[in-house]
Amino acid sequence: MTNPFPTIQDLAEKNAGASPGFKPKLTLQDLMSRNAMAVISCMDPRADPKDFWGIEAGMPPGVIRNAGGRAADALRSLEVLSALGEGLSAVAVVHHTHCGVGPHGIDDAYIKRTLPGRMRGSSSALEEKHWDSFKHQTEEESVREDMKLIVADKLLPKDVQVFGFVLDVETNRTTEVRL
Ligand SMILES: [Zn+2]
Repeated sequence: MTNPFPTIQDLAEKNAGASPGFKPKLTLQDLMSRNAMAVISCMDPRADPKDFWGIEAGMPPGVIRNAGGRAADALRSLEVLSALGEGLSAVAVVHHTHCGVGPHGIDDAYIKRTLPGRMRGSSSALEEKHWDSFKHQTEEESVREDMKLIVADKLLPKDVQVFGFVLDVETNRTTEVRL
């Protein structure tokens, strides 16, 4: 396998030369004195909220990224944000076109078939696992499913606003999805 991108060691070495004049934009106190917002997006480098919404480095909202941008993975973090500072005021779920676990990507059955040849443990650990791929849905359907999951989480604030969007990775445009 060849990798045309910098390795983790390359990235860490570059950081060792980080600017001595660096000043953090926010302190923990700043964050504790305001409402939190969160964007849930896929870990795919084409689906970075900093790029598609122009969020400045080091500034809110909090960004939660995982395979597919699925809410099931993000609930723990949303619950923590709900307790921190003034609490969680808004969440946006963003799924993107041409996602590796979306309509053009792989599904849970494929993951279950592929991991045994690569994993270090025994395959009995696979039986109960779900990976929340959404190959069987449109991006709009999976966004709605995740919005409903967030709305149904009884541990989150009752007035939290829940938004949904689909990012088109070919145009970098997001389109709102409503429940
Ligand atoms: Zn993706």
